[in-house]
Amino acid sequence: MDDSCRQDFPLLALSDWESHGYLESNDSITHSPLTGAVHPIFGYNRDRPLPGSTSTRRWLTLTQQDYEYLTPPLRLATQMIWSPASIRLLYSILYSPRSPTLIRYKDLAVPEISLQATPVSAIITIARALNRLAESISFAFGDLSGHGGSLGSTGPDFLAYPLGISVQEDNQLTGCASFVAISVYYLNDFRRLYEQPDRNENQLLSLNFQLAVTLCHEIAHAMHLAVDLDFLNRRNAAYPDQRASILFTEPFVEDQRVAELGLCWENEVFGGVIMSSRESLNSPLFVYEWPSFLARNAEMNPERTLPARLSTTYLISLYYIRNIQSQEYWDAVRGRAPSHHTLRIRKFVGLRREYQGNNFDRNWDPGTSSEGTWPTESEDSSRVLRNDGDEDEIAALANERPRETLERLFDQHSCVGLNP
Ligand SMILES: [Zn+2]
Repeated sequence: MDDSCRQDFPLLALSDWESHGYLESNDSITHSPLTGAVHPIFGYNRDRPLPGSTSTRRWLTLTQQDYEYLTPPLRLATQMIWSPASIRLLYSILYSPRSPTLIRYKDLAVPEISLQATPVSAIITIARALNRLAESISFAFGDLSGHGGSLGSTGPDFLAYPLGISVQEDNQLTGCASFVAISVYYLNDFRRLYEQPDRNENQLLSLNFQLAVTLCHEIAHAMHLAVDLDFLNRRNAAYPDQRASILFTEPFVEDQRVAELGLCWENEVFGGVIMSSRESLNSPLFVYEWPSFLARNAEMNPERTLPARLSTTYLISLYYIRNIQSQEYWDAVRGRAPSHHTLRIRKFVGLRREYQGNNFDRNWDPGTSSEGTWPTESEDSSRVLRNDGDEDEIAALANERPRETLERLFDQHSCVGLNP
């Protein structure tokens, strides 16, 4: 984090950067990197080739060397996709009944799903569905600059499975396979960083985190396509006219304003959507509560109402980015009761942003909205200070500062009852 990047955020105080770990040149605690297997859905090769093909490659056009750069973020993505909040949303995408709403997206009615309570068996169901999905999904890095600068994009893939796929044991068709394109900027940045012997580890950890988020975001889309039987049936009815363009839409989740399952996944898992900066590897990351005008794409994503006028982006601490990429954190999580807050990001210092367009929701009331005014901020302030209140103990572990880690370790290891 250098001076030039801080200058891009003149409203943040030096103490903000300091409290979020951006001013320390060295972490006072050395973490162990993640160990453990990468989930098969992110594996370089499949167990067997796709029908009609002899290649087992899942990551098209990617060399083994480039794939090795991805091992740390793929291990992180594996942990993220297994986090309790992620399992709950994926399970809901698979099994929640689609209820009709009055909202239409072009010619289609947009359904709604609800977040399901996850039975103990949900983990087996999701494990099976992800393994099934892994058999048909493909990834490739590509130039997505034509996609509004997005970092990833998932679409249906009928090449190997023209009639569709099944993510269930009985092999009944449930939906279609996915092709996931990931922005080539990621690959270029990884190559650049790994070629520097004196690279900045914080930049690498930040990049790992962003790629892991993008991949899990796209898996949420792929899971929906794998169970969108209505889309598959309409598409197969139009087949073999390959030029037929068949629309599909994702469902709203509960009463959310926008239907976009990837952003919904981020919001469920992190308590907000990750705002990446592709301008510089040095740029800090922010998180904001979604739906927000900051991620608006009304052309692509059905909306129930117009967005709120204000949104607040909260600085993500480098401590968080480091902690969740340490094996110690995941070992500590494993020993505790499952929590939907496992990966919740602490929202402490933020910048309030105002929508510049005219088509916002004029009935929006900050007093009743999650984008409302927090006790410690004033209406006219752009720098927001927020007290997160009682934080879940696992979320506290993820967000802990080095001093807090040392205190916790001291408490755990020190003998109780010794007199000086
Ligand atoms: Zn998306």
